[in-house]
Amino acid sequence: MGELEIDQLTKVFGDATDEVVAVDDLDIEIEDGEFLVLVGPSGCGKSTTLRCVAGLESASSGNIVLDGETVTDQKPKERNMAMVFQNYALYPHMTARENMAFGLKMTTNLSKAEIDERVNEAAEMMGIHDLLDDQPGELSGGQQQRVALGRAIVREPEVFLMDEPLSNLDAKLRTQMRTELQELQQRLDVTTIYVTHDQTEAMTMGDRIAVLNGGELQQIGTPLECYHQPTNHFVAGFIGSPSMNFLTTRRSGQTLNHKAFKYRLSDRLARTVEQADSEALTLGIRPEDIRPDDDDSNAITVTVTVAEPLGDATYVYFDVGDTVCTASIPGDLTVSEGDQLSVVFPQDRIHLFDRHTGESITNRVVSSSDDTWGISA
Ligand code: ATP
Repeated sequence: MGELEIDQLTKVFGDATDEVVAVDDLDIEIEDGEFLVLVGPSGCGKSTTLRCVAGLESASSGNIVLDGETVTDQKPKERNMAMVFQNYALYPHMTARENMAFGLKMTTNLSKAEIDERVNEAAEMMGIHDLLDDQPGELSGGQQQRVALGRAIVREPEVFLMDEPLSNLDAKLRTQMRTELQELQQRLDVTTIYVTHDQTEAMTMGDRIAVLNGGELQQIGTPLECYHQPTNHFVAGFIGSPSMNFLTTRRSGQTLNHKAFKYRLSDRLARTVEQADSEALTLGIRPEDIRPDDDDSNAITVTVTVAEPLGDATYVYFDVGDTVCTASIPGDLTVSEGDQLSVVFPQDRIHLFDRHTGESITNRVVSSSDDTWGISA
């Protein structure tokens, strides 16, 4: 079992004159075996949350509950959780084997033979059996991270806590380790909280992601829920790369007025925004949802300022008023700087946010009719 509850967790650093609320009344329930990714910009409280769960940091208020038992006041080693750090945190003078065995020697009554067996099993799993007699200094970054993961695995914990474990690796190794880690987590079926500021890791690794900003939970859901149905402007902008485009508008009746264009809302969208009774609106559109179009009455003509061919797609940049927008178009289309394009923000793809609260009023329609691959949603 590894059912974890973060219950109204608050962590304040400093004193009354110089206070930092790193984590603000955070509530998250994580199911046994779930892979939860904590994501958000630098300083949003991800590491502090993880450290409070691990017991490395004390909570200012709130509780950490593991399988129904409140562990808030327990020491880290009593919590049956294993942490993996960004910098591996291996002992430099010990071999990989000694590093992996160390925690077991110190905190359990396991015999040497039992410890050896666990270390060998984990080393096999991580593909580092041949490296067990090497010291960290003799290992590459990827190999050191495998040892650090092996050290967490041998403890057979109820919860893995991982703090940006891949960020010191180069891009290729990082992608490879990302897949390996996912497979490992599924095989071991151990509840995992994984901290990252990399939204690609968040999108690809987690069963669910929890998006934090300023210590507060913004949204928790599956990666695709957060991508397609963001609860607010912040989540919409943080999840997705390149980011969603945002255009500042004011609604008058059924029309959104932007400095550079007018956009007539469909009857469906007009009804939704009228109910929300909001006139100051931000229109959001993802780069891949912008379409070329001459016929649509909402189409606008733009001039390409930069075209970035990536192979499979080309990112096309253009100005709409004083906002730089990005469109992602198929890589086999030829577009160059200075080209004029007629583009449209399709009604079923736009998001609208209340400019005052940032809350989402309507999100793009998600439908399986987009599917052209014969795979049902
Ligand atoms: P990053 O991605 O940069 O690691 P993070 O989301 O993990 O950031 P935290 O490290 O949890 O963010 O920090 C949250 C806030 O708490 C920041 O404003 C940080 O400066 C502050 N903070 C963290 N640790 C301490 C500390 N020991 N003393 C004072 N302030 C701290």
